[in-house]
Amino acid sequence: MIIAVDFDGTIVDHEYPEIGREKPFAIDVLRKLAEEGNKIILWSVREGELLDEAVQYCKERGLVFYAVNSEEPSNALFGGAQSTRKLRADLYIDDHNLGGLPEWGEIYEMVNQKREARRTVTHRHRFRLFRRK
Ligand SMILES: [Mg+2]
Repeated sequence: MIIAVDFDGTIVDHEYPEIGREKPFAIDVLRKLAEEGNKIILWSVREGELLDEAVQYCKERGLVFYAVNSEEPSNALFGGAQSTRKLRADLYIDDHNLGGLPEWGEIYEMVNQKREARRTVTHRHRFRLFRRK
């Protein structure tokens, strides 16, 4: 899955333009999701140096994004494209989510449930197509 994740207020406490304290398990969860084959895209209103600082902060903690403010990787280290327009992703994780930001352990569960749900929907869809014939 492609997962777009916000930085301020989501990976770290919102202290923009400073970098707040890491939200418990945020980077561990994102690293695990990346290891499991998801493409993690940083999706932030940060630009330029402030964006680079966020990317570097995560990199120092072992989290390297697939892309930064872009659907595809470009400049390997600092992500390249700096447009903050909406990206195409399967999931968006943001502290401005409707209902608020769950804890990161819960986010991990929810991502896996969504993976399961997608599988179920696909099966149902196929079944329906089969019955119509
Ligand atoms: Mg935010």
